[in-house]
Amino acid sequence: MTRSIRPLVAGNWKMNGLKADLAVATEVAKGYAPELKGKVDLAICPPASLLFMASAALIGSRIATGGQDCSAQGSGAFTGEVSAAMLTDAGATYAIVGHSERRTLHGETNAIVKAKAEAAQKELLVPIVCVGETREEREAGKALAIVRRQIRGSVPDGASAATLVVAYEPVWAIGTGLTPTAQDVAEMHAAIRAELGKLLGKAAAAGVRLLYGGSVKPSNAAELMNVANVDGALVGGASLKAEEFLAIAKAC
Ligand code: PGA
Repeated sequence: MTRSIRPLVAGNWKMNGLKADLAVATEVAKGYAPELKGKVDLAICPPASLLFMASAALIGSRIATGGQDCSAQGSGAFTGEVSAAMLTDAGATYAIVGHSERRTLHGETNAIVKAKAEAAQKELLVPIVCVGETREEREAGKALAIVRRQIRGSVPDGASAATLVVAYEPVWAIGTGLTPTAQDVAEMHAAIRAELGKLLGKAAAAGVRLLYGGSVKPSNAAELMNVANVDGALVGGASLKAEEFLAIAKAC
């Protein structure tokens, strides 16, 4: 398939990884062959403790790094928080914001996610804004409405293709082995693109990368990545194994 947007495959390591696991990042770099480099962008989002070292290990590989979250605050008395400036300082290009685990376990609202995305942009990070419905919301036929509302509430004003990535991750597909049908993904991604068009203008929205996330693995990546308006993947579990992560990248 010819693509007008170069896909991005981002690995979200979540709370996994010690120093020794940086070997996964260097293995990915080794397998990121020149012909793949021209076709798909890669990013690895390790835990904050490894970010600086991962960025250093990946210098010259053309693989970007990212944080898994960032504070909406600039600096100060916010024990345990990591600011966007700290992520940039540690070599990051991206910051995941609004992941469903943050929304659910840490009570992050759309307004908080938007503030975090804006804080990231201020430090020249590209936020990967995550949205997605729960199983109950999908079963109740509310998936599209919920995700449209998350987009309206979480996406910074004035964002463009260069300053925003959106990831659609149905909550019920994360870490479960379940995935939506290609048709459901197509419908949702088209709805997200349309909603972004209303917020950012059609031209800007047309270039924003829309990632699919939730149980992406080598066996289903080709089908999911071939869906219209899917411009890459946000990969959790499978990003912890270099060969699986690379196989997903090749499927793009
Ligand atoms: P998964 O996680 O690939 O393990 O389902 C995806 C995510 O949470 O970003």
